[in-house]
Amino acid sequence: MKIGIIGAGAVGSAAAYACVLTRAAHDIVLIDHDPARAHAEAQDVLHATPFAGGARVRAGSYDDLGGVTAVVIAAGVAQRPGESRLELLGRNEAVFKAIIEPALAAAPDALLIVATNPVDIMTEVATRLSGLPPSRVIGTGTILDTARFRALLARHLQVSPESVHAYVLGEHGDSEVLCWSVATIGTIPIEVYAKAVDRPLGEEARAAIDHAVRHAAQKIITGKGYTNYGIGGGVSRLVRAIDDDEHLLMSVSMLTERVEGRGPLALSLPRVVGRAGIVETVLPDLAPHEHAELGHSADVLLRAAGR
Ligand code: NAD
Repeated sequence: MKIGIIGAGAVGSAAAYACVLTRAAHDIVLIDHDPARAHAEAQDVLHATPFAGGARVRAGSYDDLGGVTAVVIAAGVAQRPGESRLELLGRNEAVFKAIIEPALAAAPDALLIVATNPVDIMTEVATRLSGLPPSRVIGTGTILDTARFRALLARHLQVSPESVHAYVLGEHGDSEVLCWSVATIGTIPIEVYAKAVDRPLGEEARAAIDHAVRHAAQKIITGKGYTNYGIGGGVSRLVRAIDDDEHLLMSVSMLTERVEGRGPLALSLPRVVGRAGIVETVLPDLAPHEHAELGHSADVLLRAAGR
């Protein structure tokens, strides 16, 4: 599948690299308003292709997006000292205005995949600016938080993360909801599994995992200045689900009419992803306190969007 990636920074280049290594895309165009950066990243990623199937990787312009199935948006500006969150949003909206129109002019049938933060609000912005149906504008949302939750549960229970079925829903941010009540290993409730393998998940273990998931980005950014590999892996998995029309259940963000009595707003729920974009949303049977936390997360997002 051919994709475009707009914003060739840490996240965009990691997404390109992961798409090459997992063979999710065979043709990748990197676009950045710093063309030297786009060229350098494209060259570097290209040099990995002989080890992984030989995809075409190049820096380009919007005209090169003809025939792409999806455009990944990972372009953004960083918060300035003293700048409010809403002011930052305004500047990122201007970045999206500069990107979405030329991208869709070149590739009117493309799906949009939004990674730029604050990702839920930027997914709403992209939906509004593009005029596309919400199901064709996929925010990466809590794809990464869900992956972190699964990785930590897998480590605790000494089982493959691919056997862990657990979701983080709501905002990609502090108010996100770790859905413990519906987490399973295979089809076995996590509580039952933890007891059976004698690796209990008591209050303390759960609190440690919750803290590590919720504060992962902060910790990584303190160490290296940004996060990129986890989200790069998540984007490549999304691209593969689209390419193969997999109907894969993933926690991704999308503009949604009503969530816990609030809306419309974009936030992450388990959604089925295929060639047409998001084809279904299925809310699990959450515990009452998790429903309340999801409602709180929706309130936080509505406030952050200035509504
Ligand atoms: P970065 O600064 O390394 O890269 C951003 C790139 O965007 C830069 O190369 C810049 O030149 C480019 N850019 C800015 N305006 C542009 C425009 N109008 N047209 C084209 N390119 C433009 O930042 P990064 O670390 O790659 O992060 C990118 C975004 O992804 C940020 O908003 C970050 O918060 C977000 N992010 C999201 C997740 C997630 O889980 N969704 C995880 C990590 C980072």
